[in-house]
Amino acid sequence: MSSLRTDDDTWDIATSVGSTAVMVAAASAGETERDDALIRDPYAKILVAGAGTGVWETLLDSEFAAKIENLDPEAAAIFAHMGNYQAVRTHFFDAYYREAADAGIRQIVILASGLDSRAYRLDWPAGTTVYEIDQPKVLEYKSATLREHGVEPVAQRREVPVDLRFDWPAALHDAGFDASLPTAWLAEGLLMYLPAEAQDRLFELVTELSAPGSRIAVETAGVAATDRREAMRERFKKFADQLNLSSALDIQELVYDDPDRADVAEWLDAHGWRAQGVHALDEMRRLDRLVELPDDPDRAAFSTFVTAQRL
Ligand code: SAM
Repeated sequence: MSSLRTDDDTWDIATSVGSTAVMVAAASAGETERDDALIRDPYAKILVAGAGTGVWETLLDSEFAAKIENLDPEAAAIFAHMGNYQAVRTHFFDAYYREAADAGIRQIVILASGLDSRAYRLDWPAGTTVYEIDQPKVLEYKSATLREHGVEPVAQRREVPVDLRFDWPAALHDAGFDASLPTAWLAEGLLMYLPAEAQDRLFELVTELSAPGSRIAVETAGVAATDRREAMRERFKKFADQLNLSSALDIQELVYDDPDRADVAEWLDAHGWRAQGVHALDEMRRLDRLVELPDDPDRAAFSTFVTAQRL
């Protein structure tokens, strides 16, 4: 169970759960610079550079990988693995949205959008509206930063500044959402930051708001074995101390590691959706991004990418 969280905690882009959005953007910035990039996010670097987390900006330093390699080659392999994971994940959900757009869906809702720049970088058809839900200061930081750099969204973008543990459907309606239209939802990098009951409630509300033909894509929350979690925490603490980084590397303190969480695909199948899932490690292998790790990866600790259609 998370020790840093409360039922009504708030944050900005540089603190607590907000800073995890910067971690994702840092991974996207790194991926974008690779010759064999799976995704290109031209805005990730700008968004990381101004965030002020004091940790994730370090990843923009081109010398960083070499520094880690010298300090701890096993930690370097884990960092490379994390980068590959994020790239494969973004690639998967980009494809999901391209298919939803090809199928004619024009109403998009990104739950916990963080620094997701899809509204700015995907090739949305005319008439598409992208609703982004996240905490107010996180949304504010993204739009203000991109505006300052002259970056405009491709689709009509509407911010819904609200916490997903509260009455977010009312805020979504107020922003113009139309429940009679099919919607393509996304919950990426979110479920691990919600307790199990809040996850169930979230999907109940999404289901109520989903007209037939709606779609959803979800990154499930993996559950790591306690000993592995502890080993990982120790490794990153040692490593953060050596590099003078703050303890923000300890994501485990922010997540709800709930072993009894509902299985997302099963839940959706039982509630009027038809779901399918791809295990993240299989998708990484398919895209030739499964690097060798010090220990065999624990499949249960990794997510499944679930997609579903509303019947
Ligand atoms: N989905 C984005 C992506 O994959 O790039 C951001 C993922 S980031 C790891 C987690 C995001 O979830 C943060 O932006 C955080 O503010 C948001 N978040 C977590 N819990 C939330 C809640 N209860 N209400 C609104 N946003 C939440």
